[in-house]
Amino acid sequence: MSTVSQPPSASAGPAGEFLHDFLLAAARHTPDAPALIESGRPGATTVTTYAELAALVDAYADGLGALGIETGSRVVLESDTTARAVAALLACSRSGLAFVPVSPETPHRRLESILATARPALHLQAADGTRRDLPPALGTARFGPDGLTVDRAPAPHRPRRRVPCVTDPAYIVFTSGTTGRPKGVVMSHRAVLAFYRGMLAHRIATPEDRIASTSPLQFDFSLLNIGLALGSGAAVVPVPPHLVRWPRHLLRVLRETGATQVNGVPSIWRQSLRYEPERLAALDRLRSVLFCGEEFPLPELRRLQELLPAARLINCYGATESMACSFEDVPRPLPDDVERLSIGVAHPGAEMLLVDASGAVVDRPGVPGEIHLRSPALFSGYWDDPEATRAALVPDPLCPQSGQAVLRTGDLAVRGESGEYYFCGRTDSQVQINGNRVELAEVERRLTEFPGAVAATALALPLPGGGLELTAFVVPRADRTPPDAGALREFCAETLPPYMVPQQIQLLDALPVTANGKVDRAALADAAARGAAPAVPGGGPR
Ligand code: ADP
Repeated sequence: MSTVSQPPSASAGPAGEFLHDFLLAAARHTPDAPALIESGRPGATTVTTYAELAALVDAYADGLGALGIETGSRVVLESDTTARAVAALLACSRSGLAFVPVSPETPHRRLESILATARPALHLQAADGTRRDLPPALGTARFGPDGLTVDRAPAPHRPRRRVPCVTDPAYIVFTSGTTGRPKGVVMSHRAVLAFYRGMLAHRIATPEDRIASTSPLQFDFSLLNIGLALGSGAAVVPVPPHLVRWPRHLLRVLRETGATQVNGVPSIWRQSLRYEPERLAALDRLRSVLFCGEEFPLPELRRLQELLPAARLINCYGATESMACSFEDVPRPLPDDVERLSIGVAHPGAEMLLVDASGAVVDRPGVPGEIHLRSPALFSGYWDDPEATRAALVPDPLCPQSGQAVLRTGDLAVRGESGEYYFCGRTDSQVQINGNRVELAEVERRLTEFPGAVAATALALPLPGGGLELTAFVVPRADRTPPDAGALREFCAETLPPYMVPQQIQLLDALPVTANGKVDRAALADAAARGAAPAVPGGGPR
């Protein structure tokens, strides 16, 4: 008897590569290699191998499958970055569900607003998670060592479709949003994989690497780190957020886990550079540092390079709407006359363009324009926010007839002679003071050139009688007599026009930072309005 083989049915199962396929590929080749290395208490390090991670993903995917949630539904994943949380997000991917990462520190009101926008089917937290008082219509479950425990089953539904597709959302990251309503950046499997492939082409990691991730799970920088590590067959070393703030704890975790690469926003280094330079310099396994999210103040970057002379320092530029966009090595050593770091060019497969205020493409070096990104790794849109989506995804300025959309970033840059780009601030960091256009980033850059200053932030603050006043906050070097405001102003006046010289200058031990570690400009403005000192994170050498 002969059998006739059937052609594969178009509805047999998902086609193409999904997030979990890509990130678990190493489980087939190097099942015993470490996928995650976690450090909590001193001396206690836990390793999860790729095989163990894959087994956890299976267990969680079984648990999710049993809940019968409709393909394409959202799952809020509330957790720090841990091996189990990574397994949970991969299980969502495996189950055709989009995860929405949220940190346990997220204020309840903000979580409520995310829930109201994302309308998830399920809230998933760690077995020891403490979130309560979730809306009664929301399913709730916990992930533990053996699988999922369901507290409240999600409401039943009538499925519209069953087979996941690579253009489905893989995740939704909620960013601050200027309107007060969080904006959900939707990334498809196809887009995030296009980004990961572009990133891996830079050869930033090898399978031997142990990549410390210092960003909370709710920021896509942590997903970049997870993709970089697991996509390279390397290990992720999640540093718990409460330890990142204390230099001794941070450096201990890096030492005990044998971290070879540390990825985070520039501010994670500030306190270690100030209080623990010897311990920092003693991290002899550290081979690279990748930073992203804002400009690294040059005095601090030079100091980091002095302390880690053999380390490769990588400036990663980009926004949540495309995860990131470029990776550029900092010259080693950084020449004394460098005033601005290059952000390089977009990763392979993507392209940055500059567009001037009239909408024309800038094609000459040295002329500023707004970065527009053409990329296969662009977000799909903001969740349930067509207006914001239209403002960010605009017709391709090179060929508007093509119907192709590009990302309008809101970032200003100039191109160098070799085609590389230099970030020069946000379009919205341009303020008018007494009718004069002031670029806040330029004022900040000048202030950090002062020999005793390591970081600075400039703001245009409202005056009681109307108008704006230029105010600066400067962090002086810990080992020198702090400069006085008069000396800093004179220094600015040497190169800047009078209207760009800050009228008020405050010295601070540290700058306040947001939950993702960027300078918290709103907190500075608020403290200045109240005449109080801003609350700053961490502090001394604990
Ligand atoms: P948000 O800061 O709004 O929470 P993102 O993390 O997406 O969200 O921030 C993206 C922005 O951060 C970019 O548009 C750019 O202004 C800034 N940025 C990111 N990387 C760099 C970098 N390497 N150098 C300077 N600025 C950067």
